[in-house]
Parts: sequence; structure tokens; C-alpha cells
Amino acid sequence: MSQLQSSWEAHQQHMAYLGDTDMESAAASSSLPDAGGDLDRNAPRICGVCGDKATGFHFNAMTCEGCKGFFRRSMKRKAMFTCPFNGDCRITKDNRRHCQACRLKRCVDIGMMKEFILTDEEVQRKREMILKRKEEEALKESLKPKLSEEQQQVIAILLEAHRKTYDPTYSDFAKFRPPVRSDGDGREAAGSDSILAQDLSLEDSADLFGSEAFGAFPESVEPHMFSNLVLSEKNDKSGSMSIDFSQFSMLPHLADLVSYSIQKVIGFAKMIPGFRDLTAEDQIALLKSSAIEVIMLRSNQSFTLEDMTWTCGSRDFKYRVSDVTQAGHSMDLLEPLVKFQVGLKKLNLHEEEHVLLMAICILSPDRPGVQNTSLVESLQDRLSDTLQTYIRCRHPPPGCRLLYAKMIQKLADLRSLNEEHSKQYRCISVQPEHSMQLTPLVLEVFGNEIS
Ligand SMILES: [Zn+2]
Ligand SMILES: [Zn+2]
Repeated sequence: MSQLQSSWEAHQQHMAYLGDTDMESAAASSSLPDAGGDLDRNAPRICGVCGDKATGFHFNAMTCEGCKGFFRRSMKRKAMFTCPFNGDCRITKDNRRHCQACRLKRCVDIGMMKEFILTDEEVQRKREMILKRKEEEALKESLKPKLSEEQQQVIAILLEAHRKTYDPTYSDFAKFRPPVRSDGDGREAAGSDSILAQDLSLEDSADLFGSEAFGAFPESVEPHMFSNLVLSEKNDKSGSMSIDFSQFSMLPHLADLVSYSIQKVIGFAKMIPGFRDLTAEDQIALLKSSAIEVIMLRSNQSFTLEDMTWTCGSRDFKYRVSDVTQAGHSMDLLEPLVKFQVGLKKLNLHEEEHVLLMAICILSPDRPGVQNTSLVESLQDRLSDTLQTYIRCRHPPPGCRLLYAKMIQKLADLRSLNEEHSKQYRCISVQPEHSMQLTPLVLEVFGNEIS
């Protein structure tokens, strides 16, 4: 009898413990959002019945675990107590068991309500709901994409490869043949027909551009200059037979820059996991066709939206559209190229995504001359999976929205830029006076029309 009684009590205590922490207190506090918990979170929480340390709001009042369980048991049993004393016992932590009548009265006085007690079915239902929610959360967690060890390692290798091959100080640029900038309409270039003369006028023309075009009024001047370039391009087309070769004053510098960049792209490619497993022929085929695309991709790091230039350190190495036209390229390439740079910049790629995109670009199985397409494809697939998983787990919204699709679109844009570049490169390199300004590496990678 007494054993049954005590085991019943223990069961009730257990139920009270489970029920309260997880369910009833939640129900009580949710129906009373302003119950005071927020107001004095730091104030000591005292049981309103006995003065013991309270554990929260239970059945609508701040109480300890003991008084919470006592109230529930009393209500469930519909117990009727009578005070053996005067009916006004002062309930304390130590004497709270002595008079159940006054303890229960105190419970009601401070606002405890039996309506807040869940029935056994309700407790069961809530418990099942909580279990179900936990299971759902566990399932969701297990379905959430995670970067595997291998994928994390691939990313780490690519980051390291990029840092080894991209110098953000651009200190090597001073070793290139110096940039020679003639003014926009070519008047200055027309006056000087030798490279030497242009070299000598370097400082003047650089100053002219620096102060006039971009010093004081960058915003108002830029569109004007841009439209001038478009117009002069139209003029060029009408009289394309009489190109003034001396206008290509930026060709030596930019040829060196591109040659240097090709070397760096090769260095990066060699560090892409799996690239070295390809045959030498396939490595060369991939690099030849992707080099200019990767150069365009990596140059985005120096591209600034403020003035639409590639800013590589000092003013000498700040490249505008007009500088590239002075290396023989036209707006048919440069307009979509600048658009591409702006679009790519606005994606705000993480460095991880940037390096993965470059690696995916290089390992494209559909490049001309590739023999083992299935191996290249499997390497590219692995990189694409890594990129997609990276975006899903590491790129927060809203930036991640459709990001993978947008990045793949950028690869498609690069194909047409590549095509236009090849076209214009052929026009430049077919003329010996220009091809002699190029480097052996550039001639090898982009093709040598002379030989
Ligand atoms: Zn208490
Ligand atoms: Zn009493």
C-alpha cells in the first residue's frame, strides 16, 4: 500500500517534471507573453508560494518546482484540505509540507489556475508533437548539404593556388614595358610615329589623362569619353583600311601584362586537383582556350565599379577602356567586357567561389582539341558540386539566390568574349609590326598568324 503510494508519487513527480519544463510552462508563458519574465530577467526569481528559488512561470505564477508539482497533484486529485491550525499559515521553503490547505490557498492567491494544467491526453499529444518536431529537425539537418572533407580540401588548395599566383600589390607591373597613353582622339599619337617618341611623352600624356579626365570630374567625364570611343570606333570602321598603327601605344605594356597573366593562370591551373593527371596535350588544349577567359575572370579582382577601371596599384597601372583600345581592341570587345566585369563584381563572390569559378572555367570538357573529355568532365563535375554545395551551406541569402546559375551564365558570357577577343587578336597579330610587340608566350597561346 505504502509502496504503491510512493511509486505513484514518484510517477507523478516524474510527470510533473517532464510536463512542466517542456510543455505547461511553455503553454503558460505563451498565453501570457508579458508575464514579467522579460521585465526583470536579472531579478532573483522567488517562488510566490514558499519563497524558494523559482524556476519560471507555472500555471500562471512564478513558483518553484515543488509548489508547481504540489498544485498539479492537488488539482488532479481534486483534493480538499483543511488547515490543522488557524488557516493562515505562513508558507516557507522549510514548512511548505506542513499545511497543504494553506499552501494551496497561497497557490490560488498568487494566481495559479487549474485551467493551465494539461490533461493526460494533452500532455501525451504535446509530447508527441515535440518528438515529431525533433525528428523533423533531425531529418532536415541530415538532408542539409554539407561540404565533405574532400570538398573543403579542394577549396583550400584552390585558395592557396590563387594566393600564390595573384599578387594584389601588382608590384611586378613595373617590370613590364611601360604603358604609353596617347589622348583619346589619337592626335598626339598621330604626331609621334615612333615608340621611342611616345615613351618620351609618357609622363605628359599620363598627366593629361590623370588630371583632366579623371581628376576632378570622373562622373561627368566618363560617359563623354565612353561615347567618344564608340564614335571613334564607328569612324574606324568606315575607314578600316587606314588604321594608324601608332595608336597601338599601349600594346607593348598590355602584351606584357597579358603574357604575365598567362603565366600566372598556368601556375594556378597546375595546382587544381586532378589537372596534372591529364595528358600534357589536354593540359595545353585547356589552357590555350581558357587562358583569356581566366584572365578576364581574375581581372575582376582589380576592377572597380566607382570609375569602371582596372586599378592595379599606381595611376600608371590604372586601366581604362581607352587604354585597351590603344592596344588595338575595339568596343565590340570592350563594351561587353566592361558589362561582364560590372555583372561579375555585383555578384559579390566569396574568394572561395571566385577560385572555384576559375577552376571550372579551365576544366571545360568541350574545349577544342581535348582528347579525354570524360576525365575533364569528371574533374569539372567535382568542382561544380563543390561550388553548389559551398553556395548552399556558406553563402547567406539573399546573395545566394540563383547564384550558381548566374555564375554559370558568366561562363557562357566568357565564351562570346573569348570569341570576340580571338577575332580582334587575329586582326592585330596578322600585322608584323604588332605581332613583333607580343611575347612568345602570347603568340603561342593565342596563335601566331605569321608563321
Ligand atoms: Zn514554492
Ligand atoms: Zn494552514
